[in-house]
Amino acid sequence: MKYVYFFGGKEAEGRASLNDLLGGKGANLAEMARIGIPVPPGFTITTDVCNVYRSSDKDYPEEMREQVEEALERVEKVFGAKFGDAQNPLVIAVRSGARVSMPGMMETILNLGLNDASVGGLAKQSGNERFAYRSYKTLLEIYGRVAMKVDKAILEEVLSREKAKRGVTLDTELTAEDLRKMVEELKAKIREVTSSEFPQEPRQQLWQSISAIFESWNSPRAVSYRDINKIPHDWGTAVTVQAMVFGNMGNDSGTGVVFSRNPNNGGKEFFGEFLVNAQGEDIVAGIRTPQDIGELARVLPQCYQELTSVSQRLEQRFKDMQDIEFTIQKGRLWILQTRTGKRTAQAAIKIAVDMTRERLIQGTQALQRIDPVQIEQVLHTTLDPNATKEVVAKGLAASPGTASGKISFDSDEVVELSKSDGDFILVRDETSADDIRGINAARGILTTRGGVTSHAAVVARGMGKCCIVGCQDIHIDREREEFISGNRIFAKGDTITLDGSTGEVLVGEIPTIPPQVTDELKELTVWEDLAKKLRVMANADSGADARIARSFGAEGIGLCRTEHMFFQVDRIDHFRRAILAESKEEKEAALSKLLPMQKADFNAIFSEMEGLPVTIRLLDPPLHEFLPFPYDKQQLKSLAKRLGMSYRRLEEKVLQLREFNPMLGHRGCRLGITSPEIYEMQVRAVMEAAYELIDQGISVFPAIMLPLIAHVEEVKLLKQLVIDTCEQVRKEKQAAEVIPRLGVMIELPIAALIAGELAKLVDFFSFGTNDLTQTTLGISRDDGRTFLPVYLEKGIFASDPFVSLDETGVAELIKIAVERGKKANPQLEVGICGEHGGDPKSVRFFHQIGLDSVSCSPYRVPVARLSASQAALGVGI
Ligand code: PEP
Ligand code: MG
Repeated sequence: MKYVYFFGGKEAEGRASLNDLLGGKGANLAEMARIGIPVPPGFTITTDVCNVYRSSDKDYPEEMREQVEEALERVEKVFGAKFGDAQNPLVIAVRSGARVSMPGMMETILNLGLNDASVGGLAKQSGNERFAYRSYKTLLEIYGRVAMKVDKAILEEVLSREKAKRGVTLDTELTAEDLRKMVEELKAKIREVTSSEFPQEPRQQLWQSISAIFESWNSPRAVSYRDINKIPHDWGTAVTVQAMVFGNMGNDSGTGVVFSRNPNNGGKEFFGEFLVNAQGEDIVAGIRTPQDIGELARVLPQCYQELTSVSQRLEQRFKDMQDIEFTIQKGRLWILQTRTGKRTAQAAIKIAVDMTRERLIQGTQALQRIDPVQIEQVLHTTLDPNATKEVVAKGLAASPGTASGKISFDSDEVVELSKSDGDFILVRDETSADDIRGINAARGILTTRGGVTSHAAVVARGMGKCCIVGCQDIHIDREREEFISGNRIFAKGDTITLDGSTGEVLVGEIPTIPPQVTDELKELTVWEDLAKKLRVMANADSGADARIARSFGAEGIGLCRTEHMFFQVDRIDHFRRAILAESKEEKEAALSKLLPMQKADFNAIFSEMEGLPVTIRLLDPPLHEFLPFPYDKQQLKSLAKRLGMSYRRLEEKVLQLREFNPMLGHRGCRLGITSPEIYEMQVRAVMEAAYELIDQGISVFPAIMLPLIAHVEEVKLLKQLVIDTCEQVRKEKQAAEVIPRLGVMIELPIAALIAGELAKLVDFFSFGTNDLTQTTLGISRDDGRTFLPVYLEKGIFASDPFVSLDETGVAELIKIAVERGKKANPQLEVGICGEHGGDPKSVRFFHQIGLDSVSCSPYRVPVARLSASQAALGVGI
């Protein structure tokens, strides 16, 4: 059985593909040695041993002990030094390394092989006694803590006491003599605490260290990290034993980190920093500021040359951007580690696409290199990571981007003041459809209530506007026009900044970084089109939104929420008149005023979406949302005046329309049943716009969708309404027949269950998963925020069901509906248009069950496209 894999001097028994057996670090070191990169020699003990060690009561197989001895001898030979030798000592490090990186969770022991005799050898070899004793001191500190289990604080106390005695604070201020004393003090302390001596025998140091590293796999923090990141506990860690090289041997030595490309913007340039005469811990401690890697070209040009070529070779070998740690010891370059470099969203896209251009990787690989969640960030501004930030509250991150502006608590005020007085943040307990203009005029929206599918969130996301909802840390006092957060008060007019990606509310204005729709992002869509099966459409309600959606790669509009169009200032009163009309004639007269406006809306959307399908949903929200609050006398009075109605009559009507449970009330297709004139007007507007554009040679593909269907008779009735209206328009136009596709939204469990019946009447289904989640779980999409956080905390839900599709009930209903629907009508197309259409995990599910399309807000289209591609490539499945 092979337990130990040697590497060094252009030889290696391991290789990159043995990652699971040798851990990421061990496998990459072996690979580097194999291709002739200068790595200090060493060997890796396999992850198998970790499991054997744990299960065999902390013992090792005899063969493994022999293999370690053999490998150590090879290291000595290659490096030209002897472990524990008093004249020419080989100094080694013992490091952990699992198959996936677990940063800082396990241990590393440095400078093994030093003892009272060999420290003198190191001093002589390096010509630097201070350095030798500092190395010995470091060994005692780490070894004492990790291998001999002495409390870190006890050892640190020894050191700070010694430093205090000498009146210094930094290690660098200590003399060789000081350090020698400290070594003695540390040894004495270890003896006192453990009743054992620090072992002078190097072999004992080595074996005790190997065991300590294996044991660190099961340290409480490592176990928790694996639990959180779902890493199996039986993977085990490998242990790499490696010759130490020192960057602190004078001005021809140093240490640093380089990236093979710029990890911030993805540019193809050598990037990194280094410190002369320093060890890795000096960089980590942050006491000295590292220099730009360009400086190395001046100080040690040969090493710089070699380093750039190593960096290129490593990138070619591993086919990804590398993060490389190096040390220069007395003018000689050593590479200590290479791994895939972490990068920003923007860099991830650029690097992946550039590498396809360089033919380093395939397009399908590029698609797998980018995180769909990250991609959304590049389409929005982000806060400058270097700016100072003071967080005053945290809510739910409902729509990304950033917004700075003055606080206002009133939508109308925002509309007015934003014309001349800069940027505003609309701060409300919640918003309703009535706030649409305020939301539109504000830079950002902050609400204390509501979840991520609440009105404010949905509308803001659709507009690509930064929004934070459910921010329970703040309390609004409308009377005093201020909000309180903790012990701070913010008044109307004070400036705040919202970070829609984290949900943080910050004091003042914070500088930002602009979004980038780069050529690389566009190029990525070509690969996506080849990979993905799902058609990705957008939820867009205006020509402007449609344009943005198309520029982000939307393949049509899956949901146009027509209600948003009625809130514009020149329309709302016409619509109110229609709602309040006493007779059919009066209602039709009011609606006829809206007809040309609706037609213009559809015209704009169809034009932007030329050649692509556009799905228009007929009116959905409860009618009372369009009316003023019944107890707001002021508003009622002015509306009565504008409409020429008596105040009493208006008040009575508004009260009549009030509902206790509007979400389960007079809304959706029920409006079309009780007020067919509204739906007739909308269908007419769709068709008139379509004929007009066809006349101009523009190809349009309209589809009409009925919301909140609960009964097959509803569909029969409304289908007839659509057919009759279309026929009427056709006759008037005397043109060839244009038949819009007809669909229903599946938003209620009953609709999913009767899907077989529904499917016979329509061309498509669109799952409204916001309402379907609400009605399946019986959790209001607006009020869930009062208890959902506790449900998440207690693990009842793994994730918010309004964000990531509930895979128990809601998913099951979707599957039932698809199955029954397709059985009854094999031509039926199935899609989804709830907020889940932009959630990567949900998109994967929609791909798996074979939906035809997903539709989401324009800014999430790239997220959905990439998620759909990754799902098709089997990523994460
Ligand atoms: C839905 O319910 O999922 C949907 C898309 O409609 P809305 O969010 O407008 O209710
Ligand atoms: Mg809905």
